[in-house]
Amino acid sequence: MKKIISICVPAYNESDNIGEFYKKIKEVFEKKIPMYSFEIVYINDGSTDNTLEKMENVANLDKNVQVIDLSRNYGKEIAMLAGLEHTTGEATIIMDSDLQHPPEKIPELIHMWEMGYQDVYGKRVTRHKESMLKIYSSKLYYKILSFLSQTKIEDGIGDFRLLDKECVQALISFRDKQRYTKGLYNEIGFKKIGIEFEANERFAGESKWSTQDLIKLAKDGILSNSLIPLKLSTYFGTALSLSAFVYFLYTLVRALLGKTTLPGYSSLMIVLLIIGGVQLISLGVLGEYVGNIFKESKDRPIYLINKKNSIVKEEQNSGK
Ligand code: UDP
Ligand code: MG
Repeated sequence: MKKIISICVPAYNESDNIGEFYKKIKEVFEKKIPMYSFEIVYINDGSTDNTLEKMENVANLDKNVQVIDLSRNYGKEIAMLAGLEHTTGEATIIMDSDLQHPPEKIPELIHMWEMGYQDVYGKRVTRHKESMLKIYSSKLYYKILSFLSQTKIEDGIGDFRLLDKECVQALISFRDKQRYTKGLYNEIGFKKIGIEFEANERFAGESKWSTQDLIKLAKDGILSNSLIPLKLSTYFGTALSLSAFVYFLYTLVRALLGKTTLPGYSSLMIVLLIIGGVQLISLGVLGEYVGNIFKESKDRPIYLINKKNSIVKEEQNSGK
């Protein structure tokens, strides 16, 4: 029996990439690693173009292709979870559907897995055609995030990786709704190793990430990983209140000595405003956490599936 390697592919409006992606994967497995068989789990993340149709076409040709059609667009993080929950292989490789993650690297990922590593992650070495703003802001973001969450999250290390089925089970068992999978990879542990890869340019279509999405992901990353913002506001608040108290003693002594306190008016106002500001910020931080607790506590399903082609296939079979 050949070992099955699952390929988990979230896709949102990627109609021009689906066919090519399948072709490339098939080619790599047949030519480079024929001793393994593959399974593709496509997740249609509420696409508005004919991505689903393209996926179903591929699935009709090849019984090793599953299509999970989510009921709406949930975002890549949740689409990945839906995919992982449907993989059946000994190991799963998560890949973008736009061919930016090179399929030629699959044999190397599998090789490291066979050496005993359970989480073989891709480390991107160059970035094509990205704006300097995106490159630098992401570098800065990962620095801040690593500091705040106190786990090492590096720029260039993302979702292109092979996960042993133990790791897949572990990730599935994390039921966070505000998912930040990059943080979860660290959280679950297991034996890890990185291999370098050069990201290709997108095969077709455009990147789905708007600045707004990136800000949301950044916020989810910090809030779902770290309690430091909560502590920071307490520290800040304490430091400011203490200095305000010292300043108060100082003005009191001056007043007792008969010195006029009126010139202190403006500085007092400043202190007051700062304290007010810190309090509002702290409330805001608390509010975000409480909001997250609220969302998690509703215990709603993380995603809903419209249809699965594997089910359609089973029905066809039982109908015969
Ligand atoms: N994606 C998704 N849901 C979304 C946005 C993106 O499943 O809401 C998928 C997308 O189809 C692609 C992958 O996530 O396969 C990475 O997205 P994209 O290429 O837009 O991101 P970038 O490579 O620019 O970081
Ligand atoms: Mg991409």
